[in-house]
Amino acid sequence: MLIVMNVGATQREIDGVVCAIESLGFRAHPMPGASRTAIGVTGNQGAVDIGHFENLPGVAEAVRVTKPYKLTSRDLRPEPTIVDVGGAKIGGGSLTIIAGPCAIESREQAFSVAEAVQRSGAQFFRGGAFKPRTSPYAFAGLGEEGLKILAEVREKFGLRVVTEALDESTVDLVEKYADMIQIGSRNMQNFTLLRRAGRSRLPVLLKRGMAATLEEWLLAAEYVMSEGNYQIVLCERGVRTFAQHSRNTLDLAAVPAVRRISHLPVIVDAAHGTGRNYMVTPLARAGVAVAADGIMVEVHPRPDEALSDGAQTLTFDEYEQMVKQVRAIHEVIA
Ligand code: PEP
Ligand code: MN
Repeated sequence: MLIVMNVGATQREIDGVVCAIESLGFRAHPMPGASRTAIGVTGNQGAVDIGHFENLPGVAEAVRVTKPYKLTSRDLRPEPTIVDVGGAKIGGGSLTIIAGPCAIESREQAFSVAEAVQRSGAQFFRGGAFKPRTSPYAFAGLGEEGLKILAEVREKFGLRVVTEALDESTVDLVEKYADMIQIGSRNMQNFTLLRRAGRSRLPVLLKRGMAATLEEWLLAAEYVMSEGNYQIVLCERGVRTFAQHSRNTLDLAAVPAVRRISHLPVIVDAAHGTGRNYMVTPLARAGVAVAADGIMVEVHPRPDEALSDGAQTLTFDEYEQMVKQVRAIHEVIA
């Protein structure tokens, strides 16, 4: 259920409704909007009696939400959510660029990429310390050592750092060193991890599962939000299809489709979405053209020596060109 407050409802009236929801054993999610506050109700197993709320002071209406996703939906919050990552904003019309190596390999490697990212004017640095690899024998990241390097990158270059957590215990570590928790494609339906991220103070970058429908993706975000963390950025990173010309099929139609039903920002990962260096820049341009809130790419000083995902990684020169091009496209459509 969704309770829409009157325009100009007082904080006291909002608190009164929250109290009424909690006294029934449910959870209240107040979402202040541009003109009025809406309060989402979760935790109810069956239908809640609308009559409980309709006559409370300050309430405009109580609405049953029939869609499976509730807190992620525009019904609850018509305005786009702007996610705050340590003071840097994602969403609301700006163009976010998240760039960095697939994995943190050494301090030297991370610093040289961070310098290129900073020079380009991007605010976000990515890099895995815990890598989910298909093979158990592949490089799985430097672990906490990698997180320490990320914290140094933040300190030295003033970038916000985004890194993946694989399970509940790595969320604890990521919280210690980073600015944003990435939940990877393979973990999009790891429900205990989603709930743990929902209890974090850090914003979450939620990648689309490699075979997830839009509804499953939004329900994964719903898991995070239902625990009280409303700071989520969705990331389209391609889905598995029969295509053999690319690693995944980047589903750019997902961007307007998500935007139509959800208030959450959505970005496009042109690296994992293609798997091929020569496709990354064209698809990053396309992502911006379909009005994604940002793009993610992988960058390395020597992609052919990268310990993971070299084939989809940009050199510094390629990265610099790409940034110029996507900014020009963003100017045109903004
Ligand atoms: C990544 O961004 O490093 C990654 C592993 O991506 P995905 O979860 O989309 O495969
Ligand atoms: Mn990668």
